[in-house]
Amino acid sequence: MQTSFSLAQLADPNVAQSEKILRKCVHCGFSTATCPTFLLLGDELDSPRGRIYLIKDMLEKDRPADAKTVKHIDRCLSCLSCMTTCPSGVDYMHLVDHARVHIERTYKRPLADRLIRSVLAVVLPNPKLMHLALIGAVAAKPFKSVFEALPGGNRIAAMLDLASFPPRGGNRPAGQEVASVNGALRGRVSMLSGCAQRVLQPSINDATLRLLGRHGVEVIIPKAEGCCGALVHHMGREEAAHNYARANIDAWIAEMDGHGLDAILITTSGCGTTVKDYGFMFRNEPEYADKARRVSAIAKDISEYLGALRLRVPVRETGQIVAYHSACSMQHGQKIKEQPKRLLTTMGFMVKEVPEGHICCGSAGVYNILQPEIAARLRARKVANIEKTKAQIIATGNIGCMAQIGKGTDIPIVHTVELLDWAQGGPMPAALANAGFEDRPARPAIETQTAE
Ligand code: SF4
Ligand code: SF4
Repeated sequence: MQTSFSLAQLADPNVAQSEKILRKCVHCGFSTATCPTFLLLGDELDSPRGRIYLIKDMLEKDRPADAKTVKHIDRCLSCLSCMTTCPSGVDYMHLVDHARVHIERTYKRPLADRLIRSVLAVVLPNPKLMHLALIGAVAAKPFKSVFEALPGGNRIAAMLDLASFPPRGGNRPAGQEVASVNGALRGRVSMLSGCAQRVLQPSINDATLRLLGRHGVEVIIPKAEGCCGALVHHMGREEAAHNYARANIDAWIAEMDGHGLDAILITTSGCGTTVKDYGFMFRNEPEYADKARRVSAIAKDISEYLGALRLRVPVRETGQIVAYHSACSMQHGQKIKEQPKRLLTTMGFMVKEVPEGHICCGSAGVYNILQPEIAARLRARKVANIEKTKAQIIATGNIGCMAQIGKGTDIPIVHTVELLDWAQGGPMPAALANAGFEDRPARPAIETQTAE
C-alpha cells in the first residue's frame, strides 16, 4: 500500500511504525474471510482491510478521529484473527493500538460512553473495587430493564448480565512466596496474579500454585505486581496502561536481578499477549526499554511452561470429553495452539476441536460490555459450535472467555489448569461439582511424563 506521510510526520516514531505496517498491506482482502465482525455485519469497513484504510486516512491527514472511524474501530475485537490469516505479515495489532490511542486523544465521545469507559478503566484493574462492583451489580440485576431504557444503558445491562457472586476465598495478597514445593527445587518463577481473574475465579491461581508446587517449582508473587494494563491499553489509554506495566516491570526486574526468575507465568492469555508486548510498548522509552524487553523475553503462558515440564501421571480416572476453546489471545496473539490440548490429552481427557475455532467468542476484554449486541451474536455462534462437539466440559485459558461463554451454555467451563490439577489429585473444579460430576478417589502419584 502506498502512503504519503510527510517527513515531519515520520519524525514521530509511532507514526513511522504505523507507516511501515501500512506499507505491508497489499489490500488482497484475504483477512476479511476470518474477521468475525465482517462475517456478522458484511460491511467492508468492519473488515481488517476497511479498518486499515480508515486508520491510514486518519493518520496520514493527521486529523482528529471522526465518528465514522471511531464506530468501525470500536467494533474491532482486537481478536487478531486477521494477523493469523494475512499472507503479508501485516502487524494489525500495533496499528489498531496506535489508532486507539489517537482516537482517545482526539475524539470526544458522547457523555454516557465516556462515563462507562471511565468506570471500567478504574474499577476492573483494581481487585477491591471490582469485588465491590460485582456485589453491587448482582444486587442491581433485578433492575436491568430500567437501565436498558437509559441512553447507553444496554452496556450497563450487559455488565449486570455478566456479573455473578464472586467466589469466596482465594484473593491471595501479593508479596509472599506462595507455592510450597514438593521434592527437589526445579525452578523459580513469578506468577501474574492478575486483577479481574483473581476476583472472578481465584481457584485458577490456586490450581496453578498446586500444580507448580507438586512439580518442584517455587512461585513468587511480588508485592508491587498488579494489573498488566491490557484492559486500559485496549481502550487507547496509553498513559494508564504504561503506568500499570512499569509497576510490573519494576517488580519483576527486582526479582530477576535478586534471586533470579526462570519465567513469568500468566494464566490469562489476554494478559499474556500484553506482557509479551511490553518490549514493544516501551521501545521508545530509554529508561524502560531494556527492562521491558527482558520481562517480555521470559513471559510465558502457563501452558507453555507446563508443556516443557515432566508432568506427573494423572492420579484420577479422567476420560471426560473436553471441548478446548482456544482464546484469540492464545491462538492468534501468542500463537499457542497445541500445548494446552496436549496437556489435557496427557492427563487422560478426550479433547475435541471446536468447529470455527478461530472465530472470537465476543469476550475480547471489555468488548462484551461496550459492544453487547455483536458480542451476544458471537457468543451464540461459539456456543452452537461447542455444543456440536457433544463435550461434557469446556476448557480454556482465559477468564474473559469463561465468563462470556459460560453465560450461554449449561456445559461447565473451566480453566485448563483446573482440569490438570484435578487430574493430579487437586480438588474438583467448582463448575464440575455444580454440574453434578462425580469425584473418583485419587491413586498415589508415582511416575512422571512429559506433554511434548
Ligand atoms: S491485512 Fe493482510 S490479508 Fe488483509 S488485506 Fe492487508 S495484506 Fe491482505
Ligand atoms: S482484530 Fe479481529 S475484529 Fe479486528 S479486524 Fe482483525 S479479525 Fe477483524
